[in-house]
Amino acid sequence: MAVAEFDLIRRYFAVHAPRHPFNQLGIGDDCALLNLPAGHQLAVTADTMVENVHFFADADPELLGHKLLAVNLSDLAAMGAEPFAVTLALTLPKVDETWLEAFSRGFINLARQHNVDLIGGDTTSGPLTLTVQAMGAVPQGRALLRSGSQVGDLIYVTGQLGNAGLGLKIKQGYVCADPELALRCFNQPKPRVSEGLALRSIANACIDISDGLAADLGHILQQSGVGACLQWDNLPLSASVAEFINHSGDWRMPLIAGDDYELCFTVPADCSHALPAATCVGIIEAEPGLRMRKAGRVEAFEVKGFEHFS
Ligand code: ADP
Ligand code: MG
Repeated sequence: MAVAEFDLIRRYFAVHAPRHPFNQLGIGDDCALLNLPAGHQLAVTADTMVENVHFFADADPELLGHKLLAVNLSDLAAMGAEPFAVTLALTLPKVDETWLEAFSRGFINLARQHNVDLIGGDTTSGPLTLTVQAMGAVPQGRALLRSGSQVGDLIYVTGQLGNAGLGLKIKQGYVCADPELALRCFNQPKPRVSEGLALRSIANACIDISDGLAADLGHILQQSGVGACLQWDNLPLSASVAEFINHSGDWRMPLIAGDDYELCFTVPADCSHALPAATCVGIIEAEPGLRMRKAGRVEAFEVKGFEHFS
């Protein structure tokens, strides 16, 4: 990008020198420099959001800035990693100061809440594409993997299921009596960072629910070589999602809709540790596949979520 344009980016994003002790050098040189304390591992993740694929062209830029960072922090939370640094790669069709001011506000506010520094990035021109790479620290060997579930583990989820899915349906025209919660969950997911940290010594496996519980729990089942049975009556559903199901008959929605960014984790049934606030929704079994106990019957639940290339 031209120098003047880069000055704009700097104005909106280079708001302060790094504050987190692991970040020695931030924006301004060819690279950032990070110092991880001995005995820690670096957890790294990246997520991209593309206009008209991951967000609507008229999306509120402040909410977009929040959500872009939130989905990345959610991945770190699912590993039990403490976030401390992010980079931001922006591809922008034009330099729109109003858009940049709002986008950076949403992004920086959430970063501050989690003591995360923006330590670098790249700025190019082209179709609106937003990429964040997020870095977190986890004590050696204590990351929460998808592969650790054991037969007999209880399956938990934080928060509620399907609110973001309902928010998307509202955006697409579904009329909901009380849309506020669903829209907030869709627009401004809250990454479960403190819950992920609290689960470090407790959970056998953990994942964040970005593509629906069925698909994401499916990853745990596959990588752990186990199966599971969910209990329909235990699923944590908001009144609005329950109302949507009554109205539409689509009871699968909260299990297959994306964007909830809650954590799904499994713990031994005899676990005596205090768990973060979460609901027990089922149990890990030896028989492969995902099943659902609903109205006294156990039936196979086909594991499929959002398909990126379908
Ligand atoms: P280079 O040519 O070495 O890639 P740039 O001009 O792209 O340098 O970037 C200069 C500095 O600004 C670097 O420290 C880079 O990490 C940072 N930077 C560029 N774009 C962004 C952005 N969108 N957000 C945060 N930092 C950025
Ligand atoms: Mg560059």
